[in-house]
Amino acid sequence: MTVVLVVNSGSSSLKYQLIEMADETVLASGLIERIGEPMGMVTHRRGEDKIAREVEVPDHDVAFEAMLRNFKDFGPAMADAPPAAVGHRIVQGGRRFFGPTLVDDAVEQDIEELIPLAPLHNGANLAGLRSARRVFDGIPHIAVFDTAFHTTMSDAASYYALDREVAAKYRVRKYGAHGTSHKYVSEAAAKHLERPYDELRTVVLHIGNGASACAVDRGKSIETSMGMTPLEGLVMGTRTGDIDPAVLFHLHRKGGYSVDELDVLLNRQSGLLGLTGTNDVRDVTARAAAGDAQAELGLEVYVHRLRHYVGAYLVALSGADVIAWCGGVGENSAEVRKRTLAGMEWLGIELDAQRNEARGDGIREISTDASRVRVLVVPTDEEIEIARQTLDATGISAD
Ligand code: ADP
Repeated sequence: MTVVLVVNSGSSSLKYQLIEMADETVLASGLIERIGEPMGMVTHRRGEDKIAREVEVPDHDVAFEAMLRNFKDFGPAMADAPPAAVGHRIVQGGRRFFGPTLVDDAVEQDIEELIPLAPLHNGANLAGLRSARRVFDGIPHIAVFDTAFHTTMSDAASYYALDREVAAKYRVRKYGAHGTSHKYVSEAAAKHLERPYDELRTVVLHIGNGASACAVDRGKSIETSMGMTPLEGLVMGTRTGDIDPAVLFHLHRKGGYSVDELDVLLNRQSGLLGLTGTNDVRDVTARAAAGDAQAELGLEVYVHRLRHYVGAYLVALSGADVIAWCGGVGENSAEVRKRTLAGMEWLGIELDAQRNEARGDGIREISTDASRVRVLVVPTDEEIEIARQTLDATGISAD
């Protein structure tokens, strides 16, 4: 039995999954929250059982100790399911990492070097990575980068029309994000349709609180909507997505906003939250259905941007075979899917109203039988994808 531990370390939380790889069974999963606060919260799931307890978690080292204690107290015991490797989610790999990478001290240093490109994420990822290497010191640690899947994008798709020297000096270009999910979902869609991955053109719409679209051309990302950072592109729960950069000059000059205030405004107080007062699509659609004009407008802005990217990516791909929806909104909101793909019959995209409304857990098709482009809902699973890539990188067999 080969077991992989997947770790997603954020600034104040640590998520983990212990996965048995032969049939990709999750043996246990958990979450340690409020790292660094006076009292932390620990949850652990094993099958149907779920435990939660408050524990002091001052730092990431202690968070890993808490995780180990969870396995000891609630199982499976590490001795019964020892991980053969640990896979780490790292957000920003820049132009340095093009695939899953065995971590040594030099790799750690390179990830540290990339912190300025993802200040909110890479530092926290690294803190978790360092703790994990201390706690699990005899096994390989693999870094799996969110940006890696997008390193196949052309320069034309990745360069901003910015002064070349400035861009080069500060490493400003489009790196994209959500790559692990876009890869997993496009591959799962191909498998579901029993079509070779390297023949299929897919538009993936990963729409959660964070949201991005990706054009996957025969297994390779050729365009994605997030940019140097996850702020660009679609309207999100709390992020603006695309906006005229001159708005920032304006707010600074006329409103006296500092750079840090603008950062907070655009990343945390905008998007659906800024437009409607809530970032939860469930609330926005319910309010819109009840005639709330503000919610209706918010939804329209949200959908307008989605349609813009769908159109752009159909052109980038010279036509698509599949549109795949994932993420909390993509997997659950029939209303957003319906509004986004409305009136696209002329492009060969026909949603089936009943299939779109039906609920379900696994992959499901929501287009009509006559639709030239197959429209799917594909629940994403970034942890499984990280575990697969981790195993691939180590060369260890799944059995
Ligand atoms: P994150 O980007 O944080 O990973 P998720 O992919 O978990 O986000 O998506 C969370 C969002 O999904 C919520 O904020 C909510 O807007 C949306 N969502 C969850 N369930 C539903 C639902 N049943 N209908 C519509 N939207 C939903």
